Amino acid sequence: MDNKFSKIKNVDDADLKNLTAVSVIEKIKSKQISCKDLVKYYLSNIEKYKNKNAILEVFDNAIIQAEKIDDMVASGASLPALAGLPIIIKDNILYKGKTCSCGSKFMQNHKAQYNATIIDRLLDAGVIILGRANMDEFALGASCENSAFGPCLNAFDNERVSGGSSGGSAVAVALDMCTVALGSDTGGSIRQPASFNGLIGSKPTYGRVSRYGLAAYGSSFDQISAITKTVEDNALILKYISGKDINDETSLNNEVPDYFNQIKKDIKGLRIGILKETKQLTDKTEYKEKYEKIAEWFKNQGAEVSEYSVPAYELGLAVYFALSFAELSSNMGRFDGVKFTTRSEDSENIDKLITNSRTEGLGKEVKRRILLGNFVLSSGNYDDYYLKALKIRKQLQLQYNDIFKKCDILISPTTIGEAFKLNNKIKNPVDMYVEDMFLANANVTGNPAITVPCGTGVDNLPLGLQMIADNLNEDILFRIADYFEKNFKEEK
Ligand code: GLN
Repeated sequence: MDNKFSKIKNVDDADLKNLTAVSVIEKIKSKQISCKDLVKYYLSNIEKYKNKNAILEVFDNAIIQAEKIDDMVASGASLPALAGLPIIIKDNILYKGKTCSCGSKFMQNHKAQYNATIIDRLLDAGVIILGRANMDEFALGASCENSAFGPCLNAFDNERVSGGSSGGSAVAVALDMCTVALGSDTGGSIRQPASFNGLIGSKPTYGRVSRYGLAAYGSSFDQISAITKTVEDNALILKYISGKDINDETSLNNEVPDYFNQIKKDIKGLRIGILKETKQLTDKTEYKEKYEKIAEWFKNQGAEVSEYSVPAYELGLAVYFALSFAELSSNMGRFDGVKFTTRSEDSENIDKLITNSRTEGLGKEVKRRILLGNFVLSSGNYDDYYLKALKIRKQLQLQYNDIFKKCDILISPTTIGEAFKLNNKIKNPVDMYVEDMFLANANVTGNPAITVPCGTGVDNLPLGLQMIADNLNEDILFRIADYFEKNFKEEK
């Protein structure tokens, strides 16, 4: 190879396979691999796994950006912290000049007018954005089957769902189409697809990451974070996307710890909690024994394991749906068929234009949730549903606060099982909603959560262990998750 990398040993695909963000950054910096080779490798995988339908668009400037990074490396220039890290973003995050369609036909021509704050932060840190990933339309779903551009298939099984709504992001990481992908999590949308595809996915404390430039679903729930191959990578990315943003009033002012450098410690003496309520739910699944063994394992590692109770636990799912639908119906009000979206052709007046554009442009699940959200907010129902849900939300927050005075993290399954078959749950919305059973509470209360692979299930597909911590205690979450990832071995 006669180019400026001729001094780099000949890199073949085997050297590029399954790299973590930490190693990509190191290898590019130390000239063990070129950024261009890596980007080309990922682009070839995007092509190779086209049938998965994980990627909606590949951006055209990735190779040029990779060459720029390689030039900087060659010239000995000082490099930004994430220099050359190839990422893929969920299709609901604004990247200036690029299409952001939210997995919807309605938005297919919408080009972002500005960068989301996290995009600015990551670009400043040197990442390369390869493309945008498939998702359930407007992030509503748990299987990616609600995408207007067709479902994204599970990384390991073409007959199963990828999970949702950030299904494309998860499959992109699992099949080496990028090193890291961004998703958004309103009721589990990062953690569930990460778990279904054997990966790490986190949901930071509400307010930890700016939502500016994320297409809003449930504004008091939404958080952006990363899907990664390792906990270390997840901690690394969170460090760069967190922190106060003047464009998002709900973003928190608290100092951002160096999550990455605080991991790699043991877990002796740490207090692990299991909720009586999640235990009862787990006992009904075929994974009862697996999670009992995990609790035992934590004890053997020197952690204290105790049982606690959040009496309002099971109301969390209903609260999530009532409030998130209400917020969605309000957030969707901006899409009037006049700006941002496609317009209906045959509308003789403005009222018809709005109605027809929304009727033609939006998918079934979006319409269902707008209707239910308006129902929840309508006079006569407001007190019985919206207000009541807000009150229970407060109770849940207080109950969780109480628990976290006594323990460091709560553990539970991430999902009720392995990735389910395509078309299995899509016909009955309630079946799909139940998927979020273990997930939604962290969004309702705002607490940070993470999923880490914990072996496989009856069909040999990945399962995840979810960990939830006190507000802003992502550092302890990463520490325990990292330890679990590196030390837990499943005995079958
Ligand atoms: N599965 C959940 C839902 O359908 C989560 C969605 C999300 O987090 N965006 O609402």
